[in-house]
Amino acid sequence: MLHVAVVGSGPSGVYSAQGLVQRSGPPDIRVDVLDRLPCPYGLVRYGVAPDHEKIKSLQNNLRTVLEEERVRFLGGVQVGPGGVPVARLRELYHAVVYCVGAATDRHLGVPGEDLPGSWSATEFVSWYSAHPDSAARGFVRDARSAVVIGVGNVAVDVTRILARGAPELSPTDMPQAALSALAASEVTEISMVGRRGPSQARFTTKELRELGSLSEAEVSVEEAELALDPAYLDPSGLPAAQRRNVEVLRGWAAAGPLGRPRVIRPRFFLRPVELLADGGRVGAVRFERTVPDGEGGVSGTGRFEVIEAQLVLRSVGYRGVPLDGLPFDPGSGTVPQSAGRVLRDGVVSPGEYVAGWIKRGPTGVIGTNRPCAKETVASLLEDAPALARREFAGDPLTALRAEGVRPVEWAGWQAIERAEAALGAELGRGGMVKLPDWDALWTAAGTAGP
Ligand code: NAP
Repeated sequence: MLHVAVVGSGPSGVYSAQGLVQRSGPPDIRVDVLDRLPCPYGLVRYGVAPDHEKIKSLQNNLRTVLEEERVRFLGGVQVGPGGVPVARLRELYHAVVYCVGAATDRHLGVPGEDLPGSWSATEFVSWYSAHPDSAARGFVRDARSAVVIGVGNVAVDVTRILARGAPELSPTDMPQAALSALAASEVTEISMVGRRGPSQARFTTKELRELGSLSEAEVSVEEAELALDPAYLDPSGLPAAQRRNVEVLRGWAAAGPLGRPRVIRPRFFLRPVELLADGGRVGAVRFERTVPDGEGGVSGTGRFEVIEAQLVLRSVGYRGVPLDGLPFDPGSGTVPQSAGRVLRDGVVSPGEYVAGWIKRGPTGVIGTNRPCAKETVASLLEDAPALARREFAGDPLTALRAEGVRPVEWAGWQAIERAEAALGAELGRGGMVKLPDWDALWTAAGTAGP
């Protein structure tokens, strides 16, 4: 029998576990899926926007894997400093697959980035997703205008959440405090700003189009600005995905104002150069107008534009963080690997694997993790005969418990789910509502926490 630990219960971790157990023939593989949080599903629970119920329902597929007989969920287990060291995990299991994602955000590197009122999109997403580490508050307080920097799908998510009205947000699982704050929000202008042109934006068409279907907001674009992109005027040579994005924007340019209370302004060819203070907090963002350089990039023009904003959300991508005991490439924010096998000083480290964003960087949709995990699992299975030669004392969980680890097992997670359903019913929200903090999660799980 082969004992495998998968660290991280997001999509890449669960798909890795699935690949390991849902196959026939020897060896018999048992998988422990460890997570720092008492709740499974990673970014599906703490990243997918609460109003994207269909994507969120992927949790049901992930659940089926975690309920497999040969899979155990061990929540509330920190791997690394303050928890189970990487080296100890390596002793306890025949193999370890690290699926720890990309836990932090990239920085802009411009003056004023850290002014009060300027947040990373990650902080905002964590807040409205009830991530227990989220201590931030007051995002929309006293704000009338918001600037979202970046034009990827996360930028679209945070723009949409700012623009939605309370009736649309209330049936979601958003924590009550975030719902109340957003319901009271006086943000009426939301600019979502890209440094390159509309044909180079990273958002997908479905997500972009959704901005035009909100009940309390409308989209307003400046055609002269869009037309700085030659591909906007003639999109025929673009790949299908980009062409569809341009078509959606052209449709908005042709439509007149609708008179809705909130306005979303997709902006392009504006590079952030500085966040400007006003009364001790951010008051505006100064951008340099750019123009296409003919090679997919842009060059500056020396002309500047200031957009008022008491709330700035920097949505310029995620970034992997090093895990103590694992090699890390600071340039790419990933763990060096070959077909999912961890490389230490360029040499394969037996029994150590990676999948997901920590392997390939923070790109792709949830489904991209399937082939990514599949490649890693194939490498592990190829190595299985050699890995199985190591003798083990027994169940790794017994050893972990003896060392003071108190995991939240599946029954504990199910108790959290019941508590969230009860909270939703109590608040009359029409579905479950997420528990907002560590205390509530530990209490519901019936443990005292680590
Ligand atoms: P992303 O797709 O990489 O977009 C990052 C954006 O930030 C780009 O517009 C990029 O512009 C811009 N940017 C980067 N550095 C900048 C700088 N210094 N100044 C100004 N702009 C800068 O990242 P993401 O939006 O965080 O999404 C991460 C992944 O999650 C993506 O694969 C995304 O599709 C996925 N996701 C999917 C969904 C969904 O399917 N509904 C929802 C959320 C996230 P350049 O292109 O010019 O670099």
